[in-house]
Amino acid sequence: MLGDNTAALESALSLPAETLREKISSAYLYGAEATLGSVLGGRCRAVVGALPNADADGAPATLASLNPHGLIAGLLAVKRACGAPEALLVLPREEGFAPLLQAAAQADIPVEVRDFLDVRAHKDDLVLHWATLAAVSDILAGNPPEIPAAVGGRLVEIAPGKAIGSNLPAENLKAVRIGSTFYTPAVLGEPARPGLFATGSAIEPVSNDACIVQAAFEQVMKLRQKCCGKCVLCREGLFQFGEIFRGVTEAKSALSELALAGEIGAALIDAAVCSVGKAASSCMLSVLEGFGEELKSHIQGKKCPSGRCQAFARYYVNPMKCRGCGVCIEACPENCIEGAPGYISMIDDAACTKCGKCAEVCPEGAIARTQNRIPNLPRRLTKVGRFRR
Ligand code: SF4
Ligand code: SF4
Ligand code: SF4
Repeated sequence: MLGDNTAALESALSLPAETLREKISSAYLYGAEATLGSVLGGRCRAVVGALPNADADGAPATLASLNPHGLIAGLLAVKRACGAPEALLVLPREEGFAPLLQAAAQADIPVEVRDFLDVRAHKDDLVLHWATLAAVSDILAGNPPEIPAAVGGRLVEIAPGKAIGSNLPAENLKAVRIGSTFYTPAVLGEPARPGLFATGSAIEPVSNDACIVQAAFEQVMKLRQKCCGKCVLCREGLFQFGEIFRGVTEAKSALSELALAGEIGAALIDAAVCSVGKAASSCMLSVLEGFGEELKSHIQGKKCPSGRCQAFARYYVNPMKCRGCGVCIEACPENCIEGAPGYISMIDDAACTKCGKCAEVCPEGAIARTQNRIPNLPRRLTKVGRFRR
């Protein structure tokens, strides 16, 4: 699949349609728990090879440069097998597709360059992921089709049934993101199957020192950029998901918002017209289901377990280390550090915005950040060296 599959082209063009159909019906549908055979029977106006709108990580695009003839062979084979009058290739508006454009031109396949596939406009077409086309061409070339996934931005192939984590170090993991869905690390032991990639092709580790809420917020923001805004539930749902995740990281949310997020997610997963809405709801539902304790820790416990969310941090001056130089007072944009030359500085916690600038500049490393209880500190200005705990 990751080599140029020119051999498949000949089979795609020379085999009788019925033989072709039998041969390729076992190819997987990337992102689904089904095979191509389940969709070949119906009438379709055109076979369209495209990447899903939600695939924000873009790795299958690598297939275009590694296996351009394979993608075209897959497209032609499916077109002939299902008797569709037309085939179309849809390309993102990016550089690096010259080999695929050339292969499409050689096979007389029309190309549309667009970053967003309007699923409604293709409701009478058979839209197939590029990875499915590459799987078809593998079958035609006599190779067992493997499942492509982007691990750390690099495209790898995983044999169906082999553990999904065979390409990932399993230490220090809190979660694994597959596409836009967050799983517990146990997913790494699961056998690879095309349906695991319904919300995108990337397999990304989330380490123990990352905040799952921040990771989910970033994913929702990526999807928001891809949202076309035509479906009300997707548009509003993505906005709400973003606000809810942001509120959790900024210590501004209530438990009731999680129930609302669950309701929106359940409605959106069925109502979404394209993969963007489905990926967004899967992102939200997977965090609610698999990482509810971490969400609650932020909301009820007022603590980010990984210590990443600034809103839960508190800064204080360690009276044993402070030398009273005043550098932090100068650096504080909120003027919320009290002090004098030779005296231990004191931070006004109520006014502090947790920007961390004071800690950056302190030459003694005397300013600490914590999510736990602050130790005993001076209550009034105290000379350096005079404080006793
Ligand atoms: S689900 Fe979202 S991105 Fe997809 S068509 Fe609807 S509004 Fe657009
Ligand atoms: S910069 Fe550090 S050492 Fe200097 S006054 Fe502030 S806390 Fe104390
Ligand atoms: S964290 Fe920022 S706002 Fe708070 S005391 Fe330090 S410099 Fe001032």
